[in-house]
Parts: sequence; structure tokens; C-alpha cells
Amino acid sequence: MLRIEGRIVHPDRELEGSIEIDPRTGLIASMGPLTGSSDLDCSNCLIFPGFGDIHIHAREDASGKQTYKEDFTTASAAAIHGGVTHVADMPNNPVAPVDDASYASKERLTEKSLVHVTLYAGIGPQTAPLARNVPYKAFMGPSVGDLFFASQAQLEQAIAKYHGKNVSFHCEDPVILEASKSAPTHEQRRPASAEITATEFALYLIEKYELIGKLCHYSTGDGLAKVRAAKARGLRVTCEVTPHHLFFDDGDITAENAPWLQMNPPLRSPSDRLAMIAALRDGTIDYIATDHAPHTLEENAKGISGVPQLDTYGAFATWLMAEHGFSSGDIARVCAYNPGRFVNEFLPQSFGKGYGSVEPGYVGSLTILDLRKPYLVMRESVKTKCGWSPFEGFEFPGSVRATVVRGNVYENEQGRQ
Ligand SMILES: [Zn+2]
Repeated sequence: MLRIEGRIVHPDRELEGSIEIDPRTGLIASMGPLTGSSDLDCSNCLIFPGFGDIHIHAREDASGKQTYKEDFTTASAAAIHGGVTHVADMPNNPVAPVDDASYASKERLTEKSLVHVTLYAGIGPQTAPLARNVPYKAFMGPSVGDLFFASQAQLEQAIAKYHGKNVSFHCEDPVILEASKSAPTHEQRRPASAEITATEFALYLIEKYELIGKLCHYSTGDGLAKVRAAKARGLRVTCEVTPHHLFFDDGDITAENAPWLQMNPPLRSPSDRLAMIAALRDGTIDYIATDHAPHTLEENAKGISGVPQLDTYGAFATWLMAEHGFSSGDIARVCAYNPGRFVNEFLPQSFGKGYGSVEPGYVGSLTILDLRKPYLVMRESVKTKCGWSPFEGFEFPGSVRATVVRGNVYENEQGRQ
């Protein structure tokens, strides 16, 4: 048995205790009071249920065309370095998982990952639901090959086949993007109105087709009112936000750093950023999900969008606590409990009650944060294959002490420099 002792955080309470994990099952076997003997020194640390990042792009598929910038092995190393114990991977690969056969073949590639990977299946004009229960992703506008929709009508035709399914939406309206494409900056070419219009349409689809809906990487303060209203009238909809939309705004962009702060949706105004932080705290936004999008430095320099994030997930949580007064319980809710609720129905039986709680029968994965040891992010310190971070040079107030993945302990050097 692996025994970990210390201060254990739940969304609604925090207590001193001892956790026993059975390495054969990878599940939490029992809990109890402190015994004085722990297999890992967790003094001055907080022990969270294992964090889950439910929106990443690990880049690996059957074609292998993009594994020069990331694959499931390196993405999982970056995840563990960032305190992330499970991930969910998006389907916009050159060979996209869109049916049972292509999904199963991508799933085999995840077997080498050090953390569990839940795969989304893609929705395109020609696709249909899989035989097995999986989460789906719909890109509302231009994406790779088979997953492209030219109009709202075409998207609705496809979604009608997915009645009652779990569908995540990338909310940017293709018509508004097309009309804005000659604007001078990336941010102006992808305006807030594109997200707000797409939000209205996604909520309409979620309601009409009784979907379990999720809005990805939410970024506009004005759109939040629509999300709040939809939740209030009982729609099954949840909402993600990325660390970059909580940390940076368009005022941080300079001529020098613009290529490394470019993503879709783009950075918004300072008031949008503060609205996202408030919405994450009040429960309108349910998850911190990174949209980890590794590209090489050369690719970003040429204007490709997306930033790598997994390495800094846990340290970012300590910034929310120190800078914006998030409680440890808030962090447990948005980094562990809610991501667990999202993936648990898709896990193999051997994962017991799944992720999200530190209780007997749940997966024996933990994220242990040291709030007193800061992490100065340096390019050399990240594990993502693309080899850089948008947070380079920034010192987070805390760091990941260790990541426990189904009974395996990965100690961390983040806070020790
Ligand atoms: Zn994404």
C-alpha cells in the first residue's frame, strides 16, 4: 500500500488525514486519521484529488504527421510535471477519430501515455454517433478537413444525429470570422461578437437536441450572461476557461510577444479577463481546461495560433489562490471535481468511482501543491516536446510538490530552484 498523509482538500472541506492507495488496482483503498508515517513528505502542502485537464491537443494520430511537436508520451510527461493526472484529447487530427474504427485506433496510441487519456470523437458533416459512449467535439467553423462546417444549417443537420449526446462546442461564428478577416490584428479578426453569436447557436442546439453541452475555452464577458441564463433555465451546459484567458489580456500584447500570445479565441480586454475570473469563482464557469496547443517556436513565429500549457497547470492554480483569493476548495472544484464529473462516465470499469474525489473507491491519483515554493518558469524546465511556455520568466507563487498517478508517485523539481 502507498500511504500519503497531510492536509486533504475537498470542494467543501479540508482536513488532516491519511490516504492508502492499492498499487494493484490503482484505487484508493482506505482513508483514516494521521498515523505519522507517510511515503511522501507533504508538510506545508495541500493534497488535492488528481487534477484533470479536459481540453488538450496531444497531436498524435495514425498519420504521425504532427508528432514532431508533441505525442502522448511527451504530453503526459508535461501533464505530470504540471500536476495533471488525466487529460481529454481533442479530435482535430490529420486522421480524425470520427467512427468506432478510427476512435479505437487512436485509443491504442494513448496506451503509452503516463496518464489516462479520454478521447473526444469529432463531429463533421458526414459523421454519425459511435456505438460506444464517448464525448464529442464540434468545431463550428473552419477546422481540419472532415470536421469543417460552412454554415449553421449544415452544423444543425449534423448535430440532429447526436440527440442526447455529450457534445463540446468551439464557439466562433464562421460568418463573422469571414467578414472580419481583413482587420489588422489577430484579435480584431476574431472579435468577441463571433463568440457571442456562436454561443447563442450552441445553446439553441443544446436545448433543441437535449445535449449534454459544453462550451470550450470561454473568453467573452458579454457571453457569460447567456451561459448564466441557460444554466438557470435548466439546460445541461458547462463551460471551460483557459489559464491564458485568466492571466493575459490584449493589453499584454506587444510587437515582440504577439506570436507567442496568439490563440483562438484570442486574448480579450481586461474587463473580459476579470469577468472570466469572477465567473470561475461563482460557478458559471466549471473547469480550468488549458487548450494545450503545442506548436514549435518557428511555427508560432510564422503566425500559427495556440500555446502550450500543461507544464504550468498546477502552478497556475496557486496564482489564482494568491492573486485572486480562490480558496483551496474552489481549486478542488474547478481543477479536479468538475473535470472528474465530466470524464467519469467514459472511463473503463477498472477505474472504480473515477476521478474527482479523495475517497475510497476513487482513482488513487492526487495533485500535491506546495504554496510556499515558487516556480520560476524557464524554457529548459518544461517537458512538452515543443519546448516553450507563454509563462517563461514569470514566477508562480507556488509549485507542484508531487503528482500521484494511480498509485505511482512522481516527485517534482519545480519548486526547488
Ligand atoms: Zn482546442
